[in-house]
Amino acid sequence: MDLLALQTPALLLERTRLERNLAAMRERARSLGVALRPHLKTAKSAHIARLATAGGPAAITVSTVREAEYFAAHGVSDIVYAVGITPDKIGRAAALAARGVTLRMITDCVEGAAALAAFEPAEAGPLRVLLEIDTGAGRAGVLPDSDALLAVAARLTEGTGAVLDGVLTHAGHSYGCRSLEEMSRVAEEERSGAVRAAERLRAAGHACPMVSVGSTPTAVAARDLDGVTEMRPGVYMFFDLDQATIGSCGRDDIALSVLASVIGHNRHAGHILLDAGALALSKDVSAAEIRPEIGYGDVCDALSLEPLLGFHVHSVHQEHGMVPVAGDADYERLPVGAKVRILPNHACITAAAHAHYDVVDGAEVVERWDRVNGW
Ligand code: PLP
Repeated sequence: MDLLALQTPALLLERTRLERNLAAMRERARSLGVALRPHLKTAKSAHIARLATAGGPAAITVSTVREAEYFAAHGVSDIVYAVGITPDKIGRAAALAARGVTLRMITDCVEGAAALAAFEPAEAGPLRVLLEIDTGAGRAGVLPDSDALLAVAARLTEGTGAVLDGVLTHAGHSYGCRSLEEMSRVAEEERSGAVRAAERLRAAGHACPMVSVGSTPTAVAARDLDGVTEMRPGVYMFFDLDQATIGSCGRDDIALSVLASVIGHNRHAGHILLDAGALALSKDVSAAEIRPEIGYGDVCDALSLEPLLGFHVHSVHQEHGMVPVAGDADYERLPVGAKVRILPNHACITAAAHAHYDVVDGAEVVERWDRVNGW
């Protein structure tokens, strides 16, 4: 099928770019001597999970219990659920363990540790847990040198409900970097903080075999991952304008875009209207922090994906995207009914509004892959 025949808005995935991104990250993990446990929070697709883990163990990271259930139903049996567990979700996680899935949960507080420790082990054995460490992002996790690290570990291992398999950290502050050099520095903070936490836990008598790190910028820029066992980047599969703007990828690595149609010319306001607004693109303007003109996304030629210079989605309503234009020549360039593609600021959030990918190779839609949304 010709991609121009798709109903819009549609989420397009460039197969060649996706495969290139996946292969490059596999090679990085190999050369750094760590396992790759890709984070499927961006792709949320069983098809992409298979491609991302090809040639290695089918070990993945997820951001919702719903994703864990979906990927387990598609045969993935080694999963880290990398968002702090709440007691009411332990039952769903244990049900997956009972079906033979190695599902590791994370916690960073004594309340979570107590709930996990109180679990009554069934045939599948105790729950498998990683302690979340804050290596500088300031989002979640205990600090590597804190008393809380040992207190949470002690509480977790008091009962028979859970075993401590190691530590996990996500250097989210790598998104504040503006060069590969800065990303390398944050990658070293991520590595050394996680390794220090693991060493302190070992000194306190915990085995702590896993040391799991990861964000896309640090995975791209890390020089050395000594003491780390695995990395968990996710957005590298698609990349986006945010990543291109901070320098962790090139613009030509961006594999995800939204196909949209021109639905009107508002000559008195001076803009072209697209049928891709806040729902199809998201309201994320992360790349605009560095390049304000980007707004809600870069407008590109529908077939070549080359930027249509000077065209950006400047504002959005729920289903409308507005592209300011300079004059009549611009309206002629993009007549009503014309199709364009928008490169997104933040691939994870843009993809989350869509039920599937239309996978494209050149001008052809070659496949349709489903996604799992929700919690
Ligand atoms: N691990 C955790 C815990 C995360 O929250 C994330 C992303 O939010 C990742 C890994 C993947 O990082 P990125 O989105 O930079 O690829």
